[in-house]
Amino acid sequence: MLRPSTPIRLLDLAAEHAALQPALDAAVREVLAEAAFIQGPAVGQFAAELGAYLGGAHVVPCANGTDALTLALLSLDLPAGAEVIVPAFTYVATLEAAALLGLRPVLADVRPDTFNLDPVAVAAALTPRTGAIIAVHLFGQCADLEALGALAAAHGVALIEDNAQALGATFQSASGVTAHAGTVGAVGTTSFFPSKNLGALGDGGALLTRDPARAALLQQLANHGQSRKYHHQRIGLNSRLDTLQAALLRVKLRQLPANTAARQAAAARYDGALDDISGLKIPVRDARSSHVFHQYTVQVEGPGRRDALREHLHQCGVPTSVYYPVPAHQQPAYAYLGYRTGQFPVAERLCETVLSLPMHPLLTVAQAAYVGEAMGYFFAGWE
Ligand SMILES: *Cc1c(COP(=O)(O)O)cnc(C)c1O
Repeated sequence: MLRPSTPIRLLDLAAEHAALQPALDAAVREVLAEAAFIQGPAVGQFAAELGAYLGGAHVVPCANGTDALTLALLSLDLPAGAEVIVPAFTYVATLEAAALLGLRPVLADVRPDTFNLDPVAVAAALTPRTGAIIAVHLFGQCADLEALGALAAAHGVALIEDNAQALGATFQSASGVTAHAGTVGAVGTTSFFPSKNLGALGDGGALLTRDPARAALLQQLANHGQSRKYHHQRIGLNSRLDTLQAALLRVKLRQLPANTAARQAAAARYDGALDDISGLKIPVRDARSSHVFHQYTVQVEGPGRRDALREHLHQCGVPTSVYYPVPAHQQPAYAYLGYRTGQFPVAERLCETVLSLPMHPLLTVAQAAYVGEAMGYFFAGWE
């Protein structure tokens, strides 16, 4: 049995933070000394720095990525019962926000190569009641922003980008314009959940937009809908990013470009080790998008084969994860939408074939090589 020479982790936050310890300690001390725990100066500083990193977008911090989706939808003023098109293969938060606001999540299938929303399926799902399309940039690569943006514009509906997994990715349209993920649609959302590419040391999230008027509205909605203290223009949320998390995120943001490059280097090593293995599909790149590899997700065809590979890797000391094991329409909470098994064949199939390998900025050359070796061992043994 193969064993790794150093332990391999799905992600290694303790080691990442150890390298930043003095800067993180200083940030905590400063927040404690100032004692402005809500809406302290670090919140605005972090928003400005992230906005600059994203090519000049407005950034409105909030409490988490799910609230960001809720706030994005609230800012659109959709009528009750309006339809919101979402991918059938995503994290549940994408549907949850719409459902809690009394909007109707309408599922559309994804593409089998990129795992992202299929514009053909979206076109078929559009109705006169559609109010928004939420594109999720799954695993770190942009959905087809060009086709989805064109559909949204043609039907007069808003495009929301759920950018919880692709912060820092860019998308180049046919006209040659390059934009950051999350800044193309009417509103983008992101999450600073600790395991995301830019993770806080707790919960956090943000909204992204190029429109200053929408940024002002989102800011108001995230703070009880108030224009100034005790004057409430709208029904809003209490959804603010803690000053402490903002101060810690400022430290971690400085590391994001290097971390993204390290993830991409690890992905390239996986590609090299895995792309010859038949029966295994490595992540497909859309030439128009960069990929920031929130996850490196392979597909393993054949009944039970993905789970057998997963068990083999576990025996070899390689942790893996399945994002996601159950498609949205088969979740009991969303049974009320009335979808049937078989309606979203790509999403259903992906839930049975995807496997995410260890992926984080500190994954070493030797560890990536070991994972490749352990994978090869399984596929050689199977034949
Ligand atoms: C993580 C995530 C969210 C939710 O973010 P939280 O900060 O955990 O609320 C939403 N959408 C996607 C695609 C995510 O990966």
